[in-house]
Amino acid sequence: MSSYQAFYRRSIDAPEAFWAEQARLIDWHQPPTTILDRSRLPFTNWFGGGTTNLCHNAIDRHLPQRQNAPAVIAVSTETGTERTYTYGELHREVQQMASMLRSLGVGRGDRVLIYMPMIAPAVFAMLACARLGAIHSVVFGGFASASLASRIDDAQPKVIVSADAGSRGGKVLAYKPLLDEAIRLATHKPSAVLLADRGLAPMDLVPGRDHRMDELAPAHAQAEVPCEWMDAADVSYTLYTSGTTGRPKGVQRDVGGYAVALAASMRHIFQASPGETYFCTSDIGWVVGHCYIVYGPLIAGMATIVYEGLPTQGLDGQPDGAIWWRLVEKYKVNVMFSAPTAVRVLKKQDPALLRQHDVSSLRALFLAGEPLDEPTARWISDGLGVPIIDNYWQTESGWPILTVAHGVEKQATKFGSPGVPMYGFKVKLVHEATGEDLTTPGEKGVVVIESPTPPGFMQTVWRDDERFINTYWRSIPGIEVYSTFDWGIRDADGYFYILGRTDDVINVAGHRLGTREIEEAISAHPAVAEVAVVGVADALKGQVAVAFVVPRAGVGDEAAALRLEGEVMKTVADNLGALARPARVHSVAALPKTRSGKLLRRALQAVCERRDPGDLTTIDDPTSLQAIQRLIG
Ligand code: ATP
Ligand code: MG
Repeated sequence: MSSYQAFYRRSIDAPEAFWAEQARLIDWHQPPTTILDRSRLPFTNWFGGGTTNLCHNAIDRHLPQRQNAPAVIAVSTETGTERTYTYGELHREVQQMASMLRSLGVGRGDRVLIYMPMIAPAVFAMLACARLGAIHSVVFGGFASASLASRIDDAQPKVIVSADAGSRGGKVLAYKPLLDEAIRLATHKPSAVLLADRGLAPMDLVPGRDHRMDELAPAHAQAEVPCEWMDAADVSYTLYTSGTTGRPKGVQRDVGGYAVALAASMRHIFQASPGETYFCTSDIGWVVGHCYIVYGPLIAGMATIVYEGLPTQGLDGQPDGAIWWRLVEKYKVNVMFSAPTAVRVLKKQDPALLRQHDVSSLRALFLAGEPLDEPTARWISDGLGVPIIDNYWQTESGWPILTVAHGVEKQATKFGSPGVPMYGFKVKLVHEATGEDLTTPGEKGVVVIESPTPPGFMQTVWRDDERFINTYWRSIPGIEVYSTFDWGIRDADGYFYILGRTDDVINVAGHRLGTREIEEAISAHPAVAEVAVVGVADALKGQVAVAFVVPRAGVGDEAAALRLEGEVMKTVADNLGALARPARVHSVAALPKTRSGKLLRRALQAVCERRDPGDLTTIDDPTSLQAIQRLIG
């Protein structure tokens, strides 16, 4: 048995002993007495009797060794600013923020909604909540008022932390009017709003409710705010899923299990060491940002880069397709984490940009969020000369379900596969209708997880245990397993391949095809930067595949679009057979995506079928869908 296999087996066969060991990676105020409580499965309760604090583990415990070492490196190519906070400075900033929040009435168990751009105070606010034992609920900065209002009503925050504005590609988006409108629409009213003023947009303050950080701050500058010792099972935060497949679900996470899961993942998956630098290009509005911009790197004693801006613009506001690699060189980044969707943006540029900077400090580039097609993986891996590590997970899981654990053993990676089940995750493939175990290599099934789920996994749906059980644990007939709602297959070596979401399957004349397979074939065409395939109702065949491609060179004239359509159709027919050939291939400038960078296939499908596109509260750029609506007519 390989050393990872042995490690994995122990996590499954003796979870109590395994996780008791991992629990030593963090500081406890009171060490746990019951490692795993199985009395209410599939609800798990990890590290009962233990008390700890996420902020203590992220900051305070490092102070003796790391007082003057960098902790947060805030870079904004939108405002052309860069600032490094040492652990000592971070400690001060977070106490100041915690003191401000406390003066506004925030304490243990209270909710704080954070609606902020990617700036350092957003990170301070999250850590300040953790320090006070308050529950944060981060909403992507700039979300529309109605989406924000529904989250305000669900989380019922005592305080909302926000800012005057965010900025993207040099375009300022004022947050305050969106926030005011959201509070007006919401039934629940926060008692206070705390606002960072970046000087980007004017703010009208509501007297008695709204407070400017710069006015409150001086009185709290020297405040000492001790960490609240929380029970391991207390709630650290709630966070919505991306809403790719429908109404977002409010995921609730604990304190102790989460801290241990992150500390363990930093060591076993990311091979992180204190003093190194981590650069995650995600957003704090997404689970990846919570875990690997904020808590994970800091728990590991690393410096973390908090980045505001596009991947294609420099600090001087001029186009710079190499900005990320410039930062890797400058800050000697050791571990980087991004998303396939970001790499596809870079793919539209000259690959020489990948070679302009010294990226020799970089051990690996981790990618998650969407299937990583082989051509994209090869493009970035060859261009950068750095190993690419795909990892598959969900808001619900809290950390990677499938990947490779190079901190345990240098496992091989395979293009197209995120890897093998991570320790603690009992991953299976089952038949969607019968629940039968599928163990033959190459058999396609639903990816499910058996209980007990590991530390860091969602506790429940916020205030809705029933929805947790009914949504996730009752979808496969006859068995109680957690469904990921993703299709997968496993090869003879135990590597998984994710084929797409369970509702992204096309049925052409009785043949079931995964949208991912067709997309993968299309993305091999050199002229294609991005692609989405959806199944569209067809009177004759039941469904047909329709493809939307973003040409690498931009949308040309009609003749160019027709030529590309013909070539793409041929590529698919050659690789997958005529059945999979799309009925139409539309050239478009942009694809509709969620704020976390995921393709909104269900919206595309609805537009093609001339239906209402449904819940679009998490869409990033509505004009992309509107343009497609006009194209389809
Ligand atoms: P919702 O559940 O509201 O529809 P969502 O599933 O997009 O939204 P997230 O939790 O942000 O919300 O995304 C998790 C999903 O992203 C996974 O279930 C999977 O479909 C996809 N995913 C994430 N990482 C990978 C990966 N490495 N390879 C393939 N798919 C991935
Ligand atoms: Mg999901």
